[in-house]
Amino acid sequence: MPSNAFKEFQKIVNDVTLYLKHQHTLGMEVLAPEDAQEMRKVLDGLEESLSPKKKTLACIPGTLDTVREELGECTRCSLCALRKNIVFGKGNPRASLVFVGEAPGGDEDVAGEPFVGEAGQLLTRIIQSIKLRREDVYICNVIKCRPPKNRDPKPEEIEACFPFLKKQLEVIRPRLICALGKFATQTLLETTERISKLRGKIYEFNHIKVVPTFHPASLLRNPEWKREVWQDMQLIQKLLEDNA
Ligand code: URA
Repeated sequence: MPSNAFKEFQKIVNDVTLYLKHQHTLGMEVLAPEDAQEMRKVLDGLEESLSPKKKTLACIPGTLDTVREELGECTRCSLCALRKNIVFGKGNPRASLVFVGEAPGGDEDVAGEPFVGEAGQLLTRIIQSIKLRREDVYICNVIKCRPPKNRDPKPEEIEACFPFLKKQLEVIRPRLICALGKFATQTLLETTERISKLRGKIYEFNHIKVVPTFHPASLLRNPEWKREVWQDMQLIQKLLEDNA
């Protein structure tokens, strides 16, 4: 297929995806998982007939399961030595909104799930404040294994792990990413600017809107930042409600 035609085809797929996500945000369960699978089969078949020789749709991402499989029992950085569990991410694979945190803490390392400790409980309340449930969104981290004593992630750890976050976001293709705290924000936006300067505004990562806010753990330490987080969540709610 000529590359223009393929781009046009991709645009149609993107538009349909955005439309369905919007319907979902409005409360309409348009596609059951089986339907989504069926749709993928149709797309695969379409590619087959459009370009029998070239697997051009290979650049359209697979599923979160395939990303998880590729991650495997990861030993790409030294964090593998001390982790109990890889914390891949959890939630709605078709979410319009993805929350990206920093790295698992002790509770998450044990549970194998993101944001299940005290900061996680606060994140649940933050999500509910915009009339969503945890199951509606997808939650993950830049780093998938716990840094010892919850120290800051090192650049080489981010470098090893970030490609998997990128792939998760490519698969989910949310309308919006909420970057929680300094590490998620600086990594996604490739900046060293302070979170207090970055929060509350709209940026982009791979054509997906990004709204940074303070990390729930730092909000627990600095409850006076509640007002800013509330404002950031109002912005997110408005962006989700706006037409795609
Ligand atoms: N803090 C994070 O950044 N991520 C988690 O999963 C838990 C705490």
